[in-house]
This record gives sequence, structure tokens and C-alpha cells, in this order.
Amino acid sequence: MVLADLGRRINAAVSDVTRSSVVDQNAVDAMLKEISNALVEADVNIKLVLNLRKKLKATIDTEDKPGVNKKKIIQKAVFDELCELVDCKDAQVFKPRKKQSNVVMFVGLQGAGKTTTCTKLAVYYQRRGFKVGMVCADTFRAGAFDQLKQNATKAKIPYYGSYTEADPVKVAFDGVEKFKKEKFEIIIVDTSGRHRQEKELFAEMIQIGEAVKPNQTIMVLDASIGQAAEAQSKAFKESSNFGAIILTKMDGHAKGGGAISAVAATHTPIAFIGTGEHIQDLESFTPRQFVSKLLGIGDIQGLMEHVTSLNLDQKDTLKNFQEGKFTMRDLQTQMNNILKMGPLSKIAQMLPGGMGDMINQMGEEETSKKFKRMVYVMDSMTKQELDSDGSIFIDQPSRIVRVARGSGTSVTEVEALLMQQKMFARMAKTTKNMQQQAPPGMAGKFSQ
Ligand code: GDP
Repeated sequence: MVLADLGRRINAAVSDVTRSSVVDQNAVDAMLKEISNALVEADVNIKLVLNLRKKLKATIDTEDKPGVNKKKIIQKAVFDELCELVDCKDAQVFKPRKKQSNVVMFVGLQGAGKTTTCTKLAVYYQRRGFKVGMVCADTFRAGAFDQLKQNATKAKIPYYGSYTEADPVKVAFDGVEKFKKEKFEIIIVDTSGRHRQEKELFAEMIQIGEAVKPNQTIMVLDASIGQAAEAQSKAFKESSNFGAIILTKMDGHAKGGGAISAVAATHTPIAFIGTGEHIQDLESFTPRQFVSKLLGIGDIQGLMEHVTSLNLDQKDTLKNFQEGKFTMRDLQTQMNNILKMGPLSKIAQMLPGGMGDMINQMGEEETSKKFKRMVYVMDSMTKQELDSDGSIFIDQPSRIVRVARGSGTSVTEVEALLMQQKMFARMAKTTKNMQQQAPPGMAGKFSQ
């Protein structure tokens, strides 16, 4: 993932300056130059980059002041400015209400991933207990209705469309009316795209919008289109005045920077990102989480949300995590959940350091085997051991030998597992500290 390269470069630049013995203006300037180059090469609009550089320069004071931790200030400033880039504080993403019909209209160019994303969003809300229906108002592209029908059937979402009616405005209106009458709570309208931004497309979008009166219009934007994202999103904004963006194909080779520029150009928040071709590959977007992930801090919040949406057993993990704790039993619950959660590569992106890298390097099958062995290890632990923070094994190493024997694994494997739990426990503590600080400070890898 190219975005990960951007994260690595920014991380390296910050680490360089914070590791050097003297943090003077020259060192800070070199860091700012490297961060700016990395952003421009990732397709972020140059004006935005220059602005970010100016603001960082103004925030970072290189003069020595007693009691001021300059390194922490630099790390926090970079983190905050990167959040600023993708944040639209004044614009709220719409939150659908239960027991009323919320109409969501999709717009975007052909191939951006509109139809796929409509289904993903339908599944997302269905999992959260909403009654969801989909309307295909794309009468322009042959096969569009069949595609939506196929996706909807697979996901068990009711749909509406027509093989005979050529007027997209009529199909959209009829579909929305039908679902409203049947008390559907979320009605997703897929409109047609074109290869280019054409007058007819925009006129059609306006007419459909007038007919179905959406509570939310979402523009689907392919993250891989680079700098073109800015102009494209501006053109759509003028005609459809969308209130949220969904970035698709963030799993591919997208540099992502163009999309970041689109957010700034239209002052519209990103609501979700598409991270694959499967219907569950949709993640809700929050700037802090996105930047944490970009910088390799790990996205535990995202992981927890994913687990919650799958209705898996979370036991007390979430509560413990918020209290800054992470016991052996929490690790057991999470490992069991991970094995139930499907594609491990997707999970890998959300995990901090070691575990994520392990999945990426070893491949799915081998990792899955390894994870199962980790579960065997924990199955051999006593209740007291599972509820501990792991230190019980350090105090009494004979326990490690017993667990290894009991689970048919090796002492090294048990020790590796204890290391993993320790890492998560550290993260839980850091997360709690971050939440207590106002404004939140830097955490995890980035501050080491
Ligand atoms: P539409 O013309 O805008 O309706 O686009 P489609 O929904 O037909 O999607 C075009 C292609 O992009 C299809 O092959 C999708 O499977 C693919 N696609 C959509 N979203 C994603 C995504 O988030 N990641 C990846 N890798 N592919 C996607």
C-alpha cells in the first residue's frame, strides 16, 4: 500500500529529528522538507503542503526552554497537522435515524466503485439493525441493474430497479416511494456514472436529487486517480452538493494524496473508505484513526469497531482497554475473534507493529496456523493465568514450561505470546493516557 510508504517516510523524518542530539532550526527545516516532499509525491496538492509546512514551522519553537519536551512537541505538531489535512471540523457526516426513511444518494464517475460501495454501505447499516433497501437509478449503463441485483441478492438486501423504464428519475422516484411505504429506514439510490464529467450526467443527477430529496448525498471517489481528484470533486460538488465522500480502492496502489486534496477543496468529510472488493471491505473514517494508521501506530479502535459490527463476543476487552488494561484473557478473546473474522490481511493493517508485520510476511495460511497454536497455548492456561497481566509467568517461569507441554507447543511459542500480550497491554495504557490528555498527545510507536 503506497500510503504506508508515505507514513514510513514521515515517521522516519520525525524520528531523525527527535533522535538527533541537537534539535535546532536546521534539523527542523530538514524534517519539514522531507515531510513536504513525501506529501507532494503522494499527490497531495502543493498549496496544501506549503500551508502545512508554514504552520508546522510556526508551531515548532527550536529555542531551548526549561521543562519543555521539544521532541514531544514536534511529534504532536506533525500528528495534529496531518489530522488537519483530512479533517473537516465544521461539516458533520450524516447519522441516519431509526424508525424514519433516510434517503442516501450516490454520485460519482463510472468505475469509481459506486455500485459496489452502495452494497457495502447497505450491509454496514443492515448489520447495525437498520432496514435497508437499494434502488438502481442507472438506466444509462447496460447491465447496471443486473450488477446491483447480483450484489444485493448476495448480501440479502431488498432492491428495486427496472429493465424497461428508461427514465432514471422515474425509476429513482418509484423505488424510493415503494421503500418509504414499506417503512424502510435506509434507502440507497445508485445513480449512473459516465466516463467523463458530462453536462448530461450533472443534469440527470440534479433531477434525481429533486425527485428523491436525499438526506445525504455521497460522492464515491477512486483514491487512485491522483491529482485529478480535486477537479473532479469540485465539479460534482457544484451540481450535487454532496455532503460526504467515500474513498474507494484504498487497498490498492492508491497514493491517496489526491483524495486528501479533494477533501480540502470541497470542505467535505470522508465518511468511509473502501478497502477491497468484498462487501465487508468498508471502514468508517475518522481523521485521528486514519493518521494513526498512516504512521503505523495501529488502529485498535477500528479493529474493535470491526469486531463489534460482526457481533462477535467481546467479553470485557473493550471495557478493560478503556481502563488501560489488557489481560491474557483479553488476548484469548481477541485471537478467537480474529480467527472468526475472515481475511487476515485486512486485520493485519489494523494491528500495531509485530502482529501486522507477521501476517504480511508469512501469508494468510501460515499465520492462521500460527494463530491457532497461540489459541492452544491460552487454552492450556489456568483461570488465574488468563486473568493476569502476564507477570505471573515472569515470577514463576515453570508455568511457561507447563503451558507449553499442555498445549503441545514450545516454550519459545509461549514466550512469544506473552510478548504480544505485553505489547497490547502497553497500547491500552498509552491509549488511556492519550484520552486523558487534552489535547491528546502522541502515542505508540511514533513517540518511542
Ligand atoms: P461503478 O461504475 O462506479 O458503479 O463501479 P463498480 O462498483 O462497478 O466498481 C468498479 C470496480 O472497482 C469493480 O471491479 C469493483 O470490484 C472495484 N472496487 C470497488 N471498490 C473497491 C475497493 O475499495 N477496492 C478494490 N480493490 N476494488 C474496488
